[in-house]
Amino acid sequence: MIVTGGGSGLGRALVERFLGEGARVGVLEKSAEKAEKLANDFGEDVLVVEGDVRKYDDNARVVQETVRQFGRLDTFVANAAIWDFSTKMVDIPVDRLDALFDEMFHINVKGYLHGARAAVEELAATGGSIIYTVSNAGFYPGGGGPLYTASKHAVVGLIKELAFELGPKIRVNGVAPGAMPTDLRGPGSLGMGETTITSAVSLGDLVKQCTVLQELPEAADYTGHYVLLASKANSRTATGAIINCDGGMGVRGLAETAGGNDL
Ligand code: NAD
Repeated sequence: MIVTGGGSGLGRALVERFLGEGARVGVLEKSAEKAEKLANDFGEDVLVVEGDVRKYDDNARVVQETVRQFGRLDTFVANAAIWDFSTKMVDIPVDRLDALFDEMFHINVKGYLHGARAAVEELAATGGSIIYTVSNAGFYPGGGGPLYTASKHAVVGLIKELAFELGPKIRVNGVAPGAMPTDLRGPGSLGMGETTITSAVSLGDLVKQCTVLQELPEAADYTGHYVLLASKANSRTATGAIINCDGGMGVRGLAETAGGNDL
């Protein structure tokens, strides 16, 4: 399998989980430091390609090298993304809007498209599947600014369209996690390339206020959903499906967040 952005956060948790499931994992990762750490931390069952999801050729390279080293490709997880730190439209400097839009959509949307395009022949050969990391922002406002929210809604559109276009050989599904403490960064075009979600947001308070389950998960807590979707034996009937696993943002109450506090 392949995961993009496997150097930290959810991507790295997926590398560890899939290794534990017996998979061999190719990773496309932009950060040289994180790529080196991955290569050092895991043995020969992980192949790390340093590169950028914005470039089609880098996506093609990780597919080629993974197949060369491990013989086949069953699952492609497109996961690398950036966040806009909920920068509202009126707070985006007008002279930065073009650059911000291009950066956000280039990584979060075009990067996912490049990944699917690069992997399609190998996945067709194995009857494999694509899994896209979405977000609560693929469904609800306020978990990002207009650009992050629109980019994740666009990912939902890609899942539906590609599920149609690549079937019946390739299944295309998504996982929509909610908050988790990771190294998630912002756009360089807003000077947020070094800002991390954990330094900027009190995630524990956030999930208490807006999720039924109220506890802040770790990245590893989301990985089982990917294992389920990757398993043809367990998900043969799922394509165009998205697992919403954000702690229940869509079913929270108005007067009280969770109705069962007294249970
Ligand atoms: P993260 O920053 O820890 O992980 C993302 C990885 O992608 C990093 O290793 C980063 O170096 C890499 N990356 C960034 N840009 C890249 C590029 N252009 N090319 C290649 N690699 C690149 O953040 P994370 O929170 O683990 O994010 C993973 C996914 O989870 C994203 O799709 C994000 O939108 C989603 N998500 C995160 C949260 C959250 O609260 N952290 C909530 C919902 C959804």
